Amino acid sequence: MVSVRTQSKHVCVIGAGPSGLVAARELSKEGHSVVVLEQNHDVGGQWLYDPNVEVEDPLGRNTFLKVHSSIYNSLRLTSPREIMGFTDFPFLVKKGRDMRRFPGHKELFLYLKDFCDWFGLREMIRFNTRVEYVGLLDSEAIGKDLRWVVRSKEKKTEKVVEEVFDAVVVATGHYSQPRLPSIKGMDAWKRKQMHSHIYRVAEPFHNEVVVVVGNSLSGQDISIELVEVAKEVYLSSKSLNISEGLSKILSKHDTLHLRPQIESLHEDGRVLFVDGTWVIADTIIYCTGYSYTFPFLDTKGIVAVDDDRVGPLYEHTFPPSLAPSLSFMGIPRKIIGFPFFESQAIWIAQLLSGKRTLPSWDDMMQSIKDFYHSRDLAGVPKHYTHDIAEFEYCDRYGDHVEFPHLEEWRKKLCVSVLVNADVNLETYRDSWDNDHELLQEALQSPHFTQLGTEAFTL
Ligand SMILES: Cc1cc2nc3c(=O)[nH]c(=O)nc-3n(C[C@H](O)[C@H](O)[C@H](O)COP(=O)(O)OP(=O)(O)OC[C@H]3O[C@@H](n4cnc5c(N)ncnc54)[C@H](O)[C@@H]3O)c2cc1C
Repeated sequence: MVSVRTQSKHVCVIGAGPSGLVAARELSKEGHSVVVLEQNHDVGGQWLYDPNVEVEDPLGRNTFLKVHSSIYNSLRLTSPREIMGFTDFPFLVKKGRDMRRFPGHKELFLYLKDFCDWFGLREMIRFNTRVEYVGLLDSEAIGKDLRWVVRSKEKKTEKVVEEVFDAVVVATGHYSQPRLPSIKGMDAWKRKQMHSHIYRVAEPFHNEVVVVVGNSLSGQDISIELVEVAKEVYLSSKSLNISEGLSKILSKHDTLHLRPQIESLHEDGRVLFVDGTWVIADTIIYCTGYSYTFPFLDTKGIVAVDDDRVGPLYEHTFPPSLAPSLSFMGIPRKIIGFPFFESQAIWIAQLLSGKRTLPSWDDMMQSIKDFYHSRDLAGVPKHYTHDIAEFEYCDRYGDHVEFPHLEEWRKKLCVSVLVNADVNLETYRDSWDNDHELLQEALQSPHFTQLGTEAFTL
């Protein structure tokens, strides 16, 4: 619902990654006063590469992690640059930079820095400031005008600051906290065990026997890179029904082996797989994904994480009892991230200004229940609650704020790349042939021409 009355709120955004940055932009555009608290020394979130991982527990078993980014040195984007940009700031090819369609991680970091500078966001950000506590100023006020106490600590001086805000936008990302499997003997296994969260380069695994657990994107990337230096690499996968692309890679390397799930780990270094085969391994790397966690947030139990279901959240963003004063950015997975974050930011900003209103508490709760029910009926495990994998959802979401639907070329390029990656896992990032026509369409579309052509070259 749209209203003409608008008001300005004092808003704290936690995190200066892609979603926090676009939140800051939209909130200030809407007339709010914005403070972004960012624990790191620069913007970028995951894309601010951090090689200093020795400080982290190898399995990431800390409530407050010391390292945020899980990006490894060799990482190249899995999505092509054309589909990634915010709607009014295309991810352009720039002379003298990484000009590939699927550039390395640093190029996306530079894009985010450009975004930040273009829209003058830096002055809103307080760097090296970690949020340690967020709670209601007055828990009796639920259902009325809420305010939040935000306690943060400056990294170098350790100075603690407590402030009060009308609203808090949580944009802290969810690819940092390792999600670990539970394997018999895991605690007793004496050799090296780590999560891909702290994997950076292959060299330390020179001549080792390494078991990589999980064959999603990181598991595949890391195995392919390890095979060049390690003695043997065993890729342990839930299903042996693998893609054509991965089969091709396995058949090329004598020292890369596919194995089923691990049955148990043994003190003598043995890793036993469920098919009865075993290896003596030097290292196990768990590429088993990440969990949602908000260690700083005290909502008196109103918002909870249950097996990676963050809820209750209306449209994955708004806890009905606390919204719009509290909101969450970037929770959905398996979507084209940046434009979606942008539509979330606009919705949050306009709700806080009073330009729009949310449905009633009952209607929001009913919508959440219906959604959970539909997932249950479809047999989707709870920990995949926020895996969307549907362009139409993003379009429907955007309709709440009249946000433009994803362009057809964006959707088609996304699908084309997924198909190509499945078949040509090793080469898809360097291929242009399949997408030639779609690319022309994209580059001639208003998304790419809106800033003028002098800024980019091909
Ligand atoms: C290995 C890997 C590969 C990926 N590849 C792709 C890809 O190819 N394409 C793609 O679109 N996405 C990819 N992603 C997903 C990526 O996370 C998103 O692109 C994007 O970074 C999400 O943005 P965000 O702002 O929501 O979270 P993040 O980028 O994680 O940013 C969150 C920010 O919050 C800050 N923060 C956290 N806690 C606190 C606190 N308590 N106090 C203050 N600040 C805090 C962090 O320091 C960080 O700056 C990949 C992720 C990983 C891990």
